[in-house]
Amino acid sequence: MQFGYTKQCLGHDTGQRHPETADRLHTIRQGLQRHHSVVYRDPEPSTLESVGRIHDPRYVQNLKSFCENGGGDWDADTVASEATWGAALASSGLAEWAALTALGGADGRDTPFALGRPPGHHAVSDNAMGFCFFNNAAVAAQSALDQAADRVAIFDWDVHHGNGTQDLFFDRGDVFYASIHETGLYPGTGARSETGRDAGEGTTLNVPLPAGADDPEFLHAVETVIVPALVQFDPDLLIVSAGFDAHRDDPISRMRLSTEGYAVMTDQLRRLDVPTGYILEGGYGLDTLAEGVEIVHETFDGRDPVAPDGDPDEDIVELSDTLRDEFDLG
Ligand SMILES: [Zn+2]
Repeated sequence: MQFGYTKQCLGHDTGQRHPETADRLHTIRQGLQRHHSVVYRDPEPSTLESVGRIHDPRYVQNLKSFCENGGGDWDADTVASEATWGAALASSGLAEWAALTALGGADGRDTPFALGRPPGHHAVSDNAMGFCFFNNAAVAAQSALDQAADRVAIFDWDVHHGNGTQDLFFDRGDVFYASIHETGLYPGTGARSETGRDAGEGTTLNVPLPAGADDPEFLHAVETVIVPALVQFDPDLLIVSAGFDAHRDDPISRMRLSTEGYAVMTDQLRRLDVPTGYILEGGYGLDTLAEGVEIVHETFDGRDPVAPDGDPDEDIVELSDTLRDEFDLG
């Protein structure tokens, strides 16, 4: 696994009391440095043209002016500073690098992990929201489609539903969006009934889990629903919107996934043998965030994950069976 990182992402200043800070990247890098020799790539930021393939040009222009004027509160949670503009383009550029590297760009086939911020999966075409300005995963998927892929799947394991990513591809058949998230959390979207529209009917898959879901529930849903759905879609590229806020020690969710659970999930995806790029989304417990990124790296390095003890709750087994029926997963 190789990592993408650029200093410009540190400049996005959200103030003293915000959970999405530059310390997230510092802690991840410290963790990786302590235990691994990691190579960092420093790719170019996204161009206006590539973010313009996903975002409304008027929104892009407004964001630029907002930052040039010093930034401030875009909404109640989403704070920009002057350097946010550059950081947002850098974060999106890292995501594009991950997608194109996974597809076998200059670096050959390897699994890249884009360590960027601000995160992206809540950003919609014409607005920032939920700490996100540009939808990094969506810009990356579009870039891959424009250059080297016919079909892209995005699996979003962040604890929040990626409403922006879903929305951007809801009526398109060339991008499959799958999300596993905690029911009732921000932004409130991601019901099971949201499955796509028109050419995109059946290419959105939501697995909402109740608060308190533990490793057996989470991993059962990934193994029996997400993985077979990805196999069925047969993408040229898989993008993982990798947030680490479903961790049991993360301060902003009530999910119970363990660090080892992330290893099992990573291994399930690795076995698909599809070119895959990881893109950092949320994760607000600094130590667990760093451990999560490390264990993804170690899993690609050959570490064997340990399957969880215990059986999943009956209601999660039922939910998974229902989704398997609805998506014809055999
Ligand atoms: Zn999140």
